[in-house]
Amino acid sequence: MGTPIIAGNWKMFKTVGEAVNFVSELAVRVAGIKGVEMVVCPPFTALAAVAGQLRDQGAGIALGAQNMYWEDEGAYTGEVAPGMLKEIGCRYVILGHSERRQYFGETDAVVNKKVHAALAHELIPIVCVGERLEERESGNTEEVVRRQVEGSLAELTARQAAAGLVVAYEPVWAIGTGRTASAADAQQVNKFIRGLLRNLFGEAAAQAVRIQYGGSVKPGNTAELMAQPDIDGALVGGASLEVDSFTDIIKNAVVGY
Ligand code: PEP
Repeated sequence: MGTPIIAGNWKMFKTVGEAVNFVSELAVRVAGIKGVEMVVCPPFTALAAVAGQLRDQGAGIALGAQNMYWEDEGAYTGEVAPGMLKEIGCRYVILGHSERRQYFGETDAVVNKKVHAALAHELIPIVCVGERLEERESGNTEEVVRRQVEGSLAELTARQAAAGLVVAYEPVWAIGTGRTASAADAQQVNKFIRGLLRNLFGEAAAQAVRIQYGGSVKPGNTAELMAQPDIDGALVGGASLEVDSFTDIIKNAVVGY
């Protein structure tokens, strides 16, 4: 509920120069659009430059990172701490993306540590959950999503949940495949997630959490997805890499919501 949130996950794409050019163009295209929160999540290397560009243009586009570690500092070669992201100007951080789970072994327990660390540093986590194709086909979608939601959000308070938490339902079979979940299927799982949040945190917090859908979101399917009562935004991969398609998704999200 609340303001819908459209976030672009750029994954391991775009140099610093490409990222800065992208947001300077995007800021012009989306100027004046109201009623939607816009977020770009570039690779770590481009975060500082993109932050500067967004600030210079007064773009009204928030910055997010794609991952982080949970410790404040230390001998963790290759990792990035929450405070470092905050210092740069990040407002959001994607946690538990299925590619992190699949290729880098992230478990719900790891995601949970990161969620707590993010909140401690006033970063808003975008917590990703979603079933694999074989899990859906064997009828286990709800069981998988329940495990991920309860594990990733363990020991959170209702107050923390209500303060801006975002959950992204991203069925793994729909990510980068061009195969979008139907609006009805996405709504069904998002509604299920809302129910889990209600059990964990109570009604008010469950309504305050924004639940995105992600998985081959495109300009053409955005309005229908966003019109569903429990879809409060989109996490967009491939279609967020082109200014034209990302702009159209943002515009269509406002129309559909
Ligand atoms: C994603 O990266 O989170 C994603 C949903 O990708 P795509 O939109 O390309 O399916």
